[in-house]
Amino acid sequence: MVSETVNKIEDLISEVAALQKEYVARLCFKCGAPCCARVHYLFSEKDILFLRLSGGEQKWRREAMSKKGCWFLGSSGCTLDTKSRPFICHHYICPDLEEEIKRNDSKVMDVLKAKFREIGHLRSQLWAEYLDET
Ligand code: SF4
Ligand code: SF4
Repeated sequence: MVSETVNKIEDLISEVAALQKEYVARLCFKCGAPCCARVHYLFSEKDILFLRLSGGEQKWRREAMSKKGCWFLGSSGCTLDTKSRPFICHHYICPDLEEEIKRNDSKVMDVLKAKFREIGHLRSQLWAEYLDET
């Protein structure tokens, strides 16, 4: 059912964000070449569907290509709430961040990868459920 799948995805996104939080805080704020400043529009069709069904912030219509770096990057980091970010923003862990995570806790990357796989599966499931219910 769509609403159950949305809830599961939301819970897992909160979990992967929490697992990365301390490492992102330690590393990303002093990064010399932040990934968010090197990308533009990242929303996929599955991201947009998830936002529509979960009631998240729907800002993807804004003109995203007129500014250098991601349109949603503010002076203190991402201006979108955690669940409204494109999935790639949760999933992308650069080599430096991965090294930092592994150096502190060797099991966290494995847990993150398993949760990313689960989210990916649920996003596909959500798409199928949405088509079935419409
Ligand atoms: S994920 Fe990597 S590239 Fe992106 S801001 Fe953090 S340290 Fe920099
Ligand atoms: S949406 Fe947020 S986290 Fe994703 S690239 Fe843009 S600023 Fe970075």
